[in-house]
Amino acid sequence: MLDVRCVPAFDDNYIWLPGLPGSRRVAIVDPGDAAPVLERLARDGLEPAAILITHHHGDHTGGIGDLTERYDIPVYGPARERIAGLTHPVSDGDTVTLDELGLEFTVLETPGHTRGHVCYFGHGALFCGDTLFTAGCGRLFEGTPQQMHASLSRIAALPEATLLYCAHEYTAANLRFALVVEPDNADIQLRRDEVARRRARHEPTVPAPLLQELKTNPFLRSADPAVIQAAERFAGHPLADGAAVFAVVRGWKDSLD
Ligand code: ZN
Ligand code: FE
Repeated sequence: MLDVRCVPAFDDNYIWLPGLPGSRRVAIVDPGDAAPVLERLARDGLEPAAILITHHHGDHTGGIGDLTERYDIPVYGPARERIAGLTHPVSDGDTVTLDELGLEFTVLETPGHTRGHVCYFGHGALFCGDTLFTAGCGRLFEGTPQQMHASLSRIAALPEATLLYCAHEYTAANLRFALVVEPDNADIQLRRDEVARRRARHEPTVPAPLLQELKTNPFLRSADPAVIQAAERFAGHPLADGAAVFAVVRGWKDSLD
């Protein structure tokens, strides 16, 4: 298994530090800011061995420069995006082998939020950046609804126990929207209450297992009759397929944000 430390950054970002249990060496996933990472490395006596980047946005890449000035470590990230400091461009199906860490990840290209967004899958975890959020998904800044629907479908096909480490704490707001789409879904109601309790204690609600997402995340539920019905009611006409349902639900949430 994996030991994953959580470093909060900015208002609602999470920078993840995966490593093997008991090891002092970690990778750094999406360091948007170097300062909180350096603080945590010092506090816990950790040595970074690699940086993994999911996409080019500044809140995921802003700390690369300061960290690589301090540490001579490789920086993996999407080959399709221009990211300063990248040393190891990766594409779909690539294996990232981090020998010093004893970790290995498979790269999944998941376009939608950005054109070249990648996720890293391994050791029962998926580092999914801004593609899938707990109970939600990223905005479509560069990709089409069809692309994002295909990307989320690939994530949905991973083992159900996979822990999803997304890059933002958005769960509570996402669940409010999930209940607009499916007001009668008991799993969403339960999750809303659990998330409210955890947030009241200032605890992260990330990661979450894929199984829970399949039951409560409207963006993974485009084939569910209740979601199809709600989307068709919102659109005012029948929808041809899962991608069309996804597109309507994504647009619906955008119209409320
Ligand atoms: Zn982003
Ligand atoms: Fe982000």
